[in-house]
Amino acid sequence: MSQIRQSTTVDVAIIGGGLVGASLACALGEAMAAERELADERAPLRVTIIEPQPLPSSAEANAYQPSFDARASAIAYGSRRHFERLGVWSAMATEASAIRHIHVSERGRLGTTRLHASELGVEALGYVIPNAWMGRALHARLESLPVDWRCPARVESLEAESGGYRLVLDSGEVLHAGLTVLADGGRSGFKERLGIESDHHSYEQTALIANVEVSRAHGGWAFERFTREGPMALLPLGGRRMELVWTHRQGAFDETLALSDGAFLERLQRAFGDRAGRFRQVGRRHTYPLSLITARETIRPHLAILGNAAHALHPVAGQGFNLALRGVMDLADAIGAARADGVAAGDPRTLASFEARRTADTHRIVRFSDGLIRLFGIDHAALGPARAAGLVGLNALGPLRRTLARHAMGIER
Ligand SMILES: Cc1cc2nc3c(=O)[nH]c(=O)nc-3n(C[C@H](O)[C@H](O)[C@H](O)COP(=O)(O)OP(=O)(O)OC[C@H]3O[C@@H](n4cnc5c(N)ncnc54)[C@H](O)[C@@H]3O)c2cc1C
Repeated sequence: MSQIRQSTTVDVAIIGGGLVGASLACALGEAMAAERELADERAPLRVTIIEPQPLPSSAEANAYQPSFDARASAIAYGSRRHFERLGVWSAMATEASAIRHIHVSERGRLGTTRLHASELGVEALGYVIPNAWMGRALHARLESLPVDWRCPARVESLEAESGGYRLVLDSGEVLHAGLTVLADGGRSGFKERLGIESDHHSYEQTALIANVEVSRAHGGWAFERFTREGPMALLPLGGRRMELVWTHRQGAFDETLALSDGAFLERLQRAFGDRAGRFRQVGRRHTYPLSLITARETIRPHLAILGNAAHALHPVAGQGFNLALRGVMDLADAIGAARADGVAAGDPRTLASFEARRTADTHRIVRFSDGLIRLFGIDHAALGPARAAGLVGLNALGPLRRTLARHAMGIER
């Protein structure tokens, strides 16, 4: 006797419950909760999100302690506004460290640039939040929203069918979705299996990430430093902890990774100088190979691609998730506007309107992050003074610096 597979029809299926997929589920769930409050008579949007990693239990979430090793992301001021809209900011804020000043410098050159939140009349240029805590705040919010989880569950196959896509989960369940959102971080291989090509440029660099303790209070300063080996960033965390992002040329990081903590701290001190104080302690070191990957298509009828699956950037400018979150909000808004006109979420008109909102922002951020790496990565003596002049000049040119700050804050659109 053949087994009967459960089959469910949904309006939106989100593949991947990482930061991006969970944010989209929150945005759609919030919109549905608002419709319910207004006693809206339309059938609610049926949203299902599928994630293989088990969610933390409520007890674990309540017992959360930021560890020395917790990885964190720089969240632009503009992203805070989006998180407020999703009803998760107050929970995130409890573990968020404000970036009040940014210091940009180049090793071996004089020029520096300083940006201050006060010049822009805001309390912070951005925030640094442990990734695990952001995930927990999103998942906790989702518990009270009308969104269905399939977790732990993995999508095993994805095929186009009439009116949408057919998803088969490892539980055997089949979902028929009017809109499928690929938020899998580019990890499932579905993009390739659907024949969606990507442009791929390896930076031939690896990012080494670790939390470090510094000898003096960071006072909300974030540091960005360009060196011949690649850029480094130091972001404020709680107490005297800071998150280090240190890029190395490919092949050169194995040695740094293998150093004892003491030797590592010494090498870091030499590369970074003492502008942040003395480095005293280092936590677990993680490494990530760095590439720029951009999908050539981000929509097809009944399909949208978001987050790392659509664009993976160099982390130095801290833009990847911030850009993805703007994509999340634009997709949720396009679906909301289409719904008001009686148009389905997966309809090509809905997705064309989403893409029209996204294109300029994505190109601008990809150019900005990639341009920064290329400008500071070119090993040519003649460019050194030009870059230093750029940094010094930037320091002197108020309006231009404010434009840079607005980019960093994610509010320049
Ligand atoms: C070193 C480093 C530092 C960074 N720092 C910053 C920063 O400071 N600020 C910033 O804005 N950005 C930063 N980024 C970028 C940011 O981390 C990414 O943009 C973000 O994590 C992308 O999230 P995502 O949800 O798209 O992908 P992921 O986090 O990869 O999530 C994808 C999810 O899909 C799930 N999945 C995979 N396959 C399947 C399947 N078959 N079925 C169902 N689910 C599946 C996975 O389990 C996973 O949970 C950094 C990136 C790196 C590498």
